[in-house]
This record gives sequence, structure tokens and C-alpha cells, in this order.
Amino acid sequence: MGERHFDVIVAGGGTAGVIAGLAAAREGAQTLIIEKNRCLGGQFTSGMQGAWVGFSDKLKRCVGGMTWELRNILNEHHGIVDKDPDKDVCYLYDTELAKVVLDELAKNEPNLTVYLNTQIADVLKEGERVTGLTVLSEMRLVNVYGKVVIDCTGDAAVSAKAGAEFAIREEREIQPMTLIGKMAGVDMDKVSQYYKENPPVEDTMMPPAWHDFKSFPGMMHFGLKDELKDAKLPEDKEYLRQWLGIFTSTPNPGEMTINCSGALEADSTKGFETRTEQENFSQKCLYDVAWAMKKYIPGFENSYLTAIASMLGVRESRRVICDYEVKFDDFLNAAEFPDSIGRGAMPAGFHTPEGETMCVYDLEPGRSMTIPYRCMVVKGKENLLVAGRCASYEIEVANCIRCMPQCMVMGEAAGIAAALAVKEQVTVRNVDVKALQEKLLEHGGIL
Ligand SMILES: Cc1cc2nc3c(=O)[nH]c(=O)nc-3n(C[C@H](O)[C@H](O)[C@H](O)COP(=O)(O)OP(=O)(O)OC[C@H]3O[C@@H](n4cnc5c(N)ncnc54)[C@H](O)[C@@H]3O)c2cc1C
Repeated sequence: MGERHFDVIVAGGGTAGVIAGLAAAREGAQTLIIEKNRCLGGQFTSGMQGAWVGFSDKLKRCVGGMTWELRNILNEHHGIVDKDPDKDVCYLYDTELAKVVLDELAKNEPNLTVYLNTQIADVLKEGERVTGLTVLSEMRLVNVYGKVVIDCTGDAAVSAKAGAEFAIREEREIQPMTLIGKMAGVDMDKVSQYYKENPPVEDTMMPPAWHDFKSFPGMMHFGLKDELKDAKLPEDKEYLRQWLGIFTSTPNPGEMTINCSGALEADSTKGFETRTEQENFSQKCLYDVAWAMKKYIPGFENSYLTAIASMLGVRESRRVICDYEVKFDDFLNAAEFPDSIGRGAMPAGFHTPEGETMCVYDLEPGRSMTIPYRCMVVKGKENLLVAGRCASYEIEVANCIRCMPQCMVMGEAAGIAAALAVKEQVTVRNVDVKALQEKLLEHGGIL
């Protein structure tokens, strides 16, 4: 078996991981990103999200640094829909353009190596220290060694295999999965007119907090309760009446993204045939919702499903126990942590497990919660960080901290911290947090 050596290894080149890798490399660390998909970005690209939510506290921007830099690059390429860049909570972005932009950014970074289509197969350890990973590409296994490993796998696959403690809720409580799709050929004017004349009545699915997103740039609609009220549905589609669907426009004319509930009470970490069932069921839900939109929403008559994401959307699985677990109270109190690496202001909460709605807790406009560095430093490990959805937080905080801007903010901080740890020859726990914060601020971070 071959072996290769790096300073920093980023496991998973998704939303958090791609930024972590770029940040570590920019700080001079020889960095490797390992990604099982065909492109970088994870949920941001392969998951086809399209609504980048969590940039402002409704009065002012609360996210900067590399996340803002990426937003500006996409904007220069006409891949962003915005209204008031200084206040927008959400930017709609072109997920396909994002694939190209991220791959280009990585290619132009001399200290960064990317292995795409490469699966992390195992964790290499010496005692409690994670020394590297065994990766699989084209039937070849290679051991890659790194001084610091950042787990950005979403499901905390590396941390769990390394023996780190993690929290995961009972299967019956886990938030629904969602396979995202895109409809083209939508008559947007007709859809807008329809909703203007028929504002949601029964639609209790729209969380009150989301009504406040005055600065929302495009169309966002929560359905399908009103639309299907008087519809005669075939028996196998009756379930759609209770289904949460979030429909958002994209930067492309006549195109809408469907983000509807999919596999319920589904644990993504089980693998094998369970994973296949989750994929198949979520795909059927997406197809059924697209069918219902075409049939029951004026403006969708001539629309068609053009794309199904190449990656299932997992909202919840393992959260690694770190030096600090962000508490629900921290969100409610808009906590100001001394080791802040960034901010989040989206309503906290989670999607309810039966796929019908979300429970949300909002902050007043102008308030945001800081994200502490310690929620990424894995308890009991000296050279392992986590960033993104698998960081350490109480589940009630989920919808605030797992939004894509916040995952990217964590990725940037983890990447810089890893590079500092290598340079100063200290553990990730002993990184000089002031130095980390200074670097983040230098790059435009908002702490
Ligand atoms: C359905 C859904 C809707 C959402 N809606 C929004 C929204 O509107 N706005 C918003 O801002 N956020 C939204 N989110 C939240 C957000 O998209 C995610 O929480 C965030 O993208 C997670 O980022 P991450 O880096 O932790 O994980 P990911 O982006 O999932 O990245 C993990 C990466 O690790 C890779 N990986 C995993 N295991 C391995 C392995 N063994 N080997 C190699 N690679 C591996 C994966 O392929 C992936 O690329 C939504 C999430 C979901 C699921």
C-alpha cells in the first residue's frame, strides 16, 4: 500500500471542508482534501441547495471572510440573486456555477491537493492520536498521513471511527432527509400572481420567523397544504398533503428548486441497504412533489424536473462532543464567546420528524450568536478538529449553526487553526486563539 504525507488533511470536501482546505493551504500548510463526490462543495453543490441562508441578522451582515469572498466571486459571474447585499439574510446562487468556481479556486492554490472520487475507508491512529486516513481510489488503497486532521464529513465519519464521543438522537426523532431537485419551464410571473391572489391560508408550515425575511431576494414559498386542499389525489400520493415543501427561485429564468421532506426517521450512518431505501424513498417524494406542482400550481403546467441532486440531503446525524457544546441558551442569549470565530443569526430549531413543519426560535433583528472555536476541538483528541454539521451543539441550535454560511465560517477557522498548529508545533487545543482571531479578522471575518 502506498503512502503520502501532508501537514493538514481535510476529510470531506463539502461545504465546510472545501473552505477549510483552502484556508489551511493559504496559511502555508501542505493540505489534502479527500472527497467522495466528483466535485467539491458537498451540499452546497452536489446537494443542489441553492439558498445560502444566514448571512445577516436582518439588519446587518454577520458573515464575512472567505464565505463572503466566495459570494462575491459567484456574484461577479452573475451566479447570485440579491436585493440588498448589506442586509440580505439569504443569497440564491447557481449551484452548477459554484461547482466550477470551487474547483478553480482549489486548482489555483499551490499548497492544496484534492482527491476527488476518493472514499475515506479507515482511520489510522497511534494511541489517541489520529495520524492519517486510508483512502480508496480506483480500487487502490493509500495511507495518507497528516499532522492535523479536520473532519468535515457531515456525518462525523472520521471522528466516530477514531473513537471520539458523539451525540446522535434516537432514529424516531431524527429530522427528515431531503433529495433536492430543480424544475425548469416555470412561468414565474404566473406563479407570483397566483400566490399574490391566493396568499397561504391553511399553510401553517411557514415558520413565523421566515415571514420576516423582508430582504429575501427571490421567491420562496412553503407548501403544499393550501395547494392540495381540494385536490383529488391518488392514494399513494395522499401523504403529500402533510408534506413540507420549500420552493425557491434560482438565478436562472424559469427555474425553481424543490426542497421537500423525504426519508423520515432515517439514520444516515447505517449504510448499505438502509441507505438505498433512504435514497429511493426520497427520490419518490421529490418526483411526487414535482408531479403535484405541475398539476396543481398555476404557472407550473409546462414545467419539468431537470435535475435531481447527486447527493441526498442529510439534516442530522452525529454531533461530535467537543471542548464546548453550544447550548440552546447560548442561542437565546445571543452569546458572545471569548473564542468566537464567527456568527450565526438564523432561527434555531429543527424540522419535525414527521416531515410536516419546522420548529423555530428566532432572535430579534440585530442580534446574533457567536460560534466558539472550542465547539470544533474534539474532546480527548489532540490533533482532530471538526467543522460543519458535525460540530458540537445541542440539537435545538441546529438550524442556526448548520446553515451553509456558518459551516463555511467554521471551515475557515478550522483550516487556519490547523495551519497554525502545524507551524507552531502545538496541539489544536493549544492554538493561540487570539492569533487565529486576528487572521480571521484580517480576511474580513466578523467575529
Ligand atoms: C435538505 C436540506 C436543506 C437545507 N437547506 C439549507 C438552506 O436552505 N440554506 C442553508 O444555508 N443551509 C441549508 N441546509 C444546511 C446545509 O446545507 C448543511 O448543513 C451543510 O451544507 C453541511 O455542510 P457540511 O460541510 O457539514 O457537510 P456536507 O456539505 O454534506 O459535506 C460533507 C462532505 O464530506 C464528504 N464525505 C463524507 N463521507 C466521506 C467519505 N467517507 N469519504 C470521502 N468523502 C466523504 C461528502 O461527500 C461531502 O462532500 C440544508 C440541509 C439539508 C440537508
